[in-house]
Amino acid sequence: MIRIIFTLLFLIGTVLPSFAEAATPFSEKAAKLAGITAVRMAGSMERLRIVLDANKEVDYSTMVLSNPSRVVVDLHGAWLSPNVARETVIESRFASKVRVAQFNENTVRVVVETTMGKGHYDVFSIEGGAIPYRVVLDFGKVGRTKDDSHGGTITDDRVGSDEPATEKKDVQQPEPSGEDKKEEKPSGKDDAGSKEKPGEEKKPDDNVEELSGEVEFSPGVKGKKIVIDPGHGGEDSGAIGPSGVTEKSITLQIAKEVEKMLKEAGAKVIMTRTTDTEVSSKHRQATDVDELQARCDVANKAKADIFISIHMDSFTSREASGTTGYYYTKGSAASKRLAAEIQSNLVAQLKTTSRGIKTCNFYVVKHTKMPATLIEVAFVSNPKEEKLLTSRKGVQKAAVGIVKGISDFFGE
Ligand SMILES: [Zn+2]
Repeated sequence: MIRIIFTLLFLIGTVLPSFAEAATPFSEKAAKLAGITAVRMAGSMERLRIVLDANKEVDYSTMVLSNPSRVVVDLHGAWLSPNVARETVIESRFASKVRVAQFNENTVRVVVETTMGKGHYDVFSIEGGAIPYRVVLDFGKVGRTKDDSHGGTITDDRVGSDEPATEKKDVQQPEPSGEDKKEEKPSGKDDAGSKEKPGEEKKPDDNVEELSGEVEFSPGVKGKKIVIDPGHGGEDSGAIGPSGVTEKSITLQIAKEVEKMLKEAGAKVIMTRTTDTEVSSKHRQATDVDELQARCDVANKAKADIFISIHMDSFTSREASGTTGYYYTKGSAASKRLAAEIQSNLVAQLKTTSRGIKTCNFYVVKHTKMPATLIEVAFVSNPKEEKLLTSRKGVQKAAVGIVKGISDFFGE
């Protein structure tokens, strides 16, 4: 009996997904993720209300971005129903446009173009009733009262509800600030413009296994203490790509792949961060220098053999592209060689334009006491490179490039 069940499960597992995905992607996803089933809007003289209907409880976070100014709400563990309009122009004095997109495979991003700053908008949730869960964005008059959250002053009464509701306030995040502003200016424009279809990243990637197996480590890697520093994190998003992808998320993904591969080769890997957070113990209160020094401290205290800071480049023109390796202006010959080995291997893997290696005064390579490099893997501001580095294959290739570079560095 058990065997029969296993056989059945096996068959269901292997035969059905491709069919089910094509036929009913929503119902398949719905089991794990919260489905965002509708985006509704209602306006009055005093307020614009945008309501996101979900079929179950969903976590969310809010941030404000400028130029153009907009409020971004990310719904985590969520999947966007194909029936929801991706872009809606609003005739309201409080906002001009709402865009909704599947930002990545489990985040739905809502971008509201609005000039309403802090204190003039509010995001909260309503639980229970005919619609299991609602996330509400109010613009204009936001002094919430019990009546307000039930749609008291709203002209479209479908938006409100008479059912009892519990409310949950989210955490407001200030605008991200680049740690190395000279080098990176977040251009952040179309946050919710991602054309990626839900689940696209889940497709099996033929080359992935092959790629990681491709690295032949030099014996010198074994036992080496290597600090990997995924750039930015927490409050600091780093640069933001045309479709809204943040530098901090790409750098962390690449770093985790690098960590995995290096550990397999017997290296001692120390990550400055493994989650979306600041490295400094001061967290949100940390100044830029606190934060960068914290990363250096990790490497210096561990007496690491090498330090590698992973970043994505950004420029005001979307045309800019390619890979650059940086090392400290007064750095050692070993730092220069480390930068060169990693940069050339990245270019070979990613097929990006080589921008060569350059000297710099970046804090993290200046204040670390071992051979150190800061690599700009590619331009997150370039739509093509942004797409490459948000794909599983791209992340893998970047990691392979870095690991091969490290291996070559220790190979002599
Ligand atoms: Zn950066």
